[in-house]
Amino acid sequence: MTRILVTNDDGVFSEGIKLLAAALERLGEVTVVAPDREQSASGHSLTLHRPLRMRQLEERVFSVDGTPTDCVNLAVLFLMKDDRPDLVVSGINFGLNLGDDVTYSGTVSATFEGTLMGIPSVAFSQQVGKSFSFQPGADFAARLVEVVLDNEVPNDLLLNVNFPAGEFRGVHLTKLGRRRYEQAVVEKIDPHGREYYWIAGTPVWSKSEGSDQDAVAGGYISITPLHLDLTDYRGLESYAWLRAQLAES
Ligand code: MN
Repeated sequence: MTRILVTNDDGVFSEGIKLLAAALERLGEVTVVAPDREQSASGHSLTLHRPLRMRQLEERVFSVDGTPTDCVNLAVLFLMKDDRPDLVVSGINFGLNLGDDVTYSGTVSATFEGTLMGIPSVAFSQQVGKSFSFQPGADFAARLVEVVLDNEVPNDLLLNVNFPAGEFRGVHLTKLGRRRYEQAVVEKIDPHGREYYWIAGTPVWSKSEGSDQDAVAGGYISITPLHLDLTDYRGLESYAWLRAQLAES
């Protein structure tokens, strides 16, 4: 029996997770463990300093008052500990997770956690346009998951998938682009006369061939393979001067 864990960062009641879970039903036993409310931009945050509450909503649907990473932990190490999931799937997120977004994204971080636990993981995000639907992405997700399950994939398989709004023109394997936010911090005064701040960045796209943003902008589904070894291997050589200079002093 194939077991698929589904989570997200938009919350257990979001449309994206419902359609994704429904689309995967035919491929195995789907268990949904997701935050009880929106947790977007929660990153890879883990709740350690307060208790977590879990609620069973349906036979295999659970909500947790924590982050996506908390959900993966409760699912893999507790709920499913005797029958670990074969795959962790996250999404479908309301909005793209391209380039630098992956470092903030709760959607993608849930798959980081899955991979750290030795379970192949796939994150799905949907571009939100004037008119868009989660359904084509959910259908594609089922096809992709089927192919992944049918093949011998490494335990550290980690795919970040983004769907363009509108008709899909095809699939591109991509690298992470640079979709940076010009971090605008807005300062205002609250009713008590004290300053408050609001981070409200506007995305700045730098064009880069073969990137995830390039693919989505062209109407293609973007699949970016990621890995969690953040070591800068070039740096091991190019920063040798650092050790040399520290040895001198
Ligand atoms: Mn989200």
